[in-house]
Amino acid sequence: MKPRAQRAIGECRRIAAMSEEEGRTTRRFLTPPMREVHKLLRERMEAMGMTVSVDAAGNLRGSRRPPGSRTRRLIIGSHIDTVPNAGAFDGILGVALALECVEIAQELKLPLPIEIIAFSEEEGVRFGVPFIGSRAAAGRFDPALLKLKDADGVTLEDAIRAFGLDPEEIEKAAIGDDASGFFEIHIEQGPLLEAEDLRVAAVTAIVGQSRHILTWTGLANHAGTTPMHLRRDALAGAAEWVVAAEALALRTDGLVATVGHVDVEPNAGNVIAGAVHVSLDVRHADDAARKSAVEALLAQAEAIAHRRSLALQCTRQMDQPAVPMDERLTAFLAEAIETAGLPVKLMPSGAGHDAMVMAGRLPAAMLFLRSPGGLSHHPDETVLEGDVAAALEVCRKFLERLAAEVG
Ligand SMILES: [Zn+2]
Repeated sequence: MKPRAQRAIGECRRIAAMSEEEGRTTRRFLTPPMREVHKLLRERMEAMGMTVSVDAAGNLRGSRRPPGSRTRRLIIGSHIDTVPNAGAFDGILGVALALECVEIAQELKLPLPIEIIAFSEEEGVRFGVPFIGSRAAAGRFDPALLKLKDADGVTLEDAIRAFGLDPEEIEKAAIGDDASGFFEIHIEQGPLLEAEDLRVAAVTAIVGQSRHILTWTGLANHAGTTPMHLRRDALAGAAEWVVAAEALALRTDGLVATVGHVDVEPNAGNVIAGAVHVSLDVRHADDAARKSAVEALLAQAEAIAHRRSLALQCTRQMDQPAVPMDERLTAFLAEAIETAGLPVKLMPSGAGHDAMVMAGRLPAAMLFLRSPGGLSHHPDETVLEGDVAAALEVCRKFLERLAAEVG
């Protein structure tokens, strides 16, 4: 698998130069460099005998059906848009490896039809809404999104037309009943596999997410004349709770809790904080565990506020359930990891991915590769050649297992 791994890495590096910005990788939804990526991928796909098209959401799609095969196709894909100043592997690696998967299936003469989808939009950078590509493919595209405007005032609808596509046709991008499942290969974008010295993992679920804003209100007053025991310091109360949130997450398996935004009023060095707004972001692969953690943290905030004579107000901003990957496909993937001679690691994904949206339409499975340094959304984002080769070996076993089912 080494030459395949080298080729896939080379392809990712080459595509990283297809950018809106000189010297940095920035490729937003349907911008001119995305057309260059389409051209390159289309040439590869056509050379492999695949039938290629672009759907109305700008997803590049290539299919190949082995002669005589009548079974439903497996869809393999990931996204080809990037964040600003991105690395070379987030998303695009999954497409480069999907191409290798098709070749592997061809070489082994597996009776498994495969469609590759290079999703046009996942990051949400241009229009502030993520997963535009996979929403359309999963039949979950809300036409109201067409009115969204980018920073230059261009609507999503106009962006689609400018790319030579017809927004009226978006419904037709939806996958019908002739697909059996979705498989995504993606870098972990976190430090776990590196910390455990593992090359790959099968993803069990995309974690659910709760977001809240807590407003702590005390009394702004003079920092020199107000004695400590007569203060109602909103920031000290919030700070006590921030540390409590960290402690709860540290002792709860699989839980992450983050306070990443703080707004202090009046935010002056010689004034006791009168009011503080803080964000809370809580994630867990198990919805019940996430909900009970949120309840515990809000109760703790109430208790701290009460003890310190502060008023507390809490607003829920997001309550997104976890999306489990398909049990059967994930079991096949775990088996493939094992037969490839690697330790079997199962883990949830803390970030959203196209597989999360596609799981609403099809049984979905996802393979993670180690992210060296745990680094992603950064120009230094990378992969190890040995990990990519190992992932391809896992893919081979996975495809063989699926082909055995249908064959
Ligand atoms: Zn990604």
